[in-house]
Amino acid sequence: MHERALAAAGLKGEYREYPVKPEDLWGWLEQVPTLGLSGFNVTMPYKKSVFAWIVGQGNGKLGRPEAWLRLPEAAPLVISESPDAAIGAVNTVVMDRGKPVGYNTDGEGFLRPLIEPPRSLDLTGWHVLLLGAGGAAEAVAISLALQTKVGRLTIWNRHPDRAKVLAETVNQLRRNDRFAQSVDRVDSLPVQECQLVVNATPVGMNGPGEKLVDSKQLKEGQWVYDLVYEPRETRLIRAARERGCRVITGDEMLAGQGVASFELWTGVKGMLPVMQEALDEHFRRPR
Ligand code: NAP
Repeated sequence: MHERALAAAGLKGEYREYPVKPEDLWGWLEQVPTLGLSGFNVTMPYKKSVFAWIVGQGNGKLGRPEAWLRLPEAAPLVISESPDAAIGAVNTVVMDRGKPVGYNTDGEGFLRPLIEPPRSLDLTGWHVLLLGAGGAAEAVAISLALQTKVGRLTIWNRHPDRAKVLAETVNQLRRNDRFAQSVDRVDSLPVQECQLVVNATPVGMNGPGEKLVDSKQLKEGQWVYDLVYEPRETRLIRAARERGCRVITGDEMLAGQGVASFELWTGVKGMLPVMQEALDEHFRRPR
């Protein structure tokens, strides 16, 4: 995806995997300035550790709020916090003359398919149901709270305490203690009340199997967004299509967060179609 974008932008470079064992992470980060990188992505389970590294570095800094707030008119609720800082996890690092600058593009990648063309959805007043309270769910919840006018957020998580903590965090950021609430029981999800249902758990990865939402509760016209991208057509997405829902699949967020990282590293915009095409080829399911 990134190499296709580099070629399309006429830039020399490569996007390479650096497998790093947990016990080697700090050593690897220490030698980063000597590797000649323009930047790098961070994936599970290191996003919070790299955030801590950036914050702990005397010369490291977090991305500025403007990096996010260039999203279309979606964010009249400008809050002085940097969403990058609020999420507390870094997935993109830009090396700026040897100094690391940390960003989180997961929230932006999540929002783009919703609020940018062609969908250009106005989320004002929407009630969103979020399944999960892990790293991706955190980015989703915080971006919805800080970057949109969504009216209400209900969070369910397998371990309910985590959903409770995330709801509290989000309410503090939104400065509204009734914006987000958690529900404990998976059989009492307010699916029908919500305009948007988001799966931010790995349930649905590796084919059928578990399910969290009773498909009979899904209703026509409702939006269903599954962050899982492998497979692209998860059980939830298939059920949602069958029920007449409108769907967004995880590969769109994958491309969205990738485009945002690419822009931060290179300054080159507009690579979404190129990256999406690379993903389509990967999944061998042309759109
Ligand atoms: P994470 O930090 O490890 O969090 C995992 C979350 O899923 C937790 O809330 C966990 O609940 C829940 N969970 C795990 N197994 C479950 C199960 N069997 N039943 C119910 N809940 C379960 O992982 P993450 O980074 O948030 O990633 C979550 C998913 O999002 C993954 O599938 C990942 O591939 C996807 N993702 C997609 C993109 C994209 O670009 N499309 C970006 C980031 C992540 P507990 O707290 O109870 O353990």
